[in-house]
Amino acid sequence: MALAAALVLALLGPAPGAVALTGVAPLPGPVVRRFDPPAEPWFAGHRGVDLLGTVGEVVAAAAAGEITFAGKVAGKGVVTVSHGELRTTYEPVSALVAVGAHVHAGEPIATLQAGHSCPGQACLHWGLKRADEYLDPLSLLGERHVRLLPASAAGIVSDTVAQRGSAISSGAVPGLLSVPAQGELGSPFGMRLHPIFNEWRMHEGQDISAPCGAGITAAADGVVKSVGYDESGGNRLVLSHGQVGAKALLTHYLHAEGYIVKAGDKVLRGQKLGTVGSTGWSTGCHLHFSVSLNGVFVDPKGFW
Ligand SMILES: [Zn+2]
Ligand SMILES: [Zn+2]
Repeated sequence: MALAAALVLALLGPAPGAVALTGVAPLPGPVVRRFDPPAEPWFAGHRGVDLLGTVGEVVAAAAAGEITFAGKVAGKGVVTVSHGELRTTYEPVSALVAVGAHVHAGEPIATLQAGHSCPGQACLHWGLKRADEYLDPLSLLGERHVRLLPASAAGIVSDTVAQRGSAISSGAVPGLLSVPAQGELGSPFGMRLHPIFNEWRMHEGQDISAPCGAGITAAADGVVKSVGYDESGGNRLVLSHGQVGAKALLTHYLHAEGYIVKAGDKVLRGQKLGTVGSTGWSTGCHLHFSVSLNGVFVDPKGFW
């Protein structure tokens, strides 16, 4: 009887340790060490998850919140973000933000440093706490799981480090930008046979197929740098997002029907800028989205 009552309670109540907040992974992963809380507080265990990365890689806030700690603990750099009753911690890192700053989910807060035990160059120890209770940070990710990997998979570890190292040298910051229109991804960044000129040309952005009139939204907080028309890009808008890794980050939106913001306007991530169109050299309704760092076009997919 007592067991039946306990079962009913278990079915009615939230799962123990359930977390209402959903967030994003601070690094793309993979996870190289899982959450393994000790049975008693004084036992050894692993009070967070370790995500494989590379030294200098940007670490993002897992969810919107306020920075409540950014400093050293026992010689290691630690950043804490408070999200109401929950807190996330990130270490070992070098902070990019100060205490009191408000951050969005996915906003860069630190760069990864070496020092945590790791099968590769550097691992982020990511923690989640409610008061003094340690929770599994992966519970914040809902359906968006990061890849899990046994630490012994040395080949995958070295491949990840090599790939991410080259992504970092290109300046890409995963999670920094949102996808600016809802639709299917079309022509990717890279060389392609041009659909109008029928010759191989560099395609300096990512096309997103969407109906004319669908919304175009800002990929990140920024300021409208320019709005104009040119023969190739049609109605073109450029947003400035300040400096990322000491490089000026711009996002470019082409072929729109029109825009509802003007040069100098401040915009927030996700704010509507205008509507998808087929102006300029375009064969159908779509958004051409480009990202540049110090004027060099880079693959937008590295930033999603
Ligand atoms: Zn750890
Ligand atoms: Zn395009």
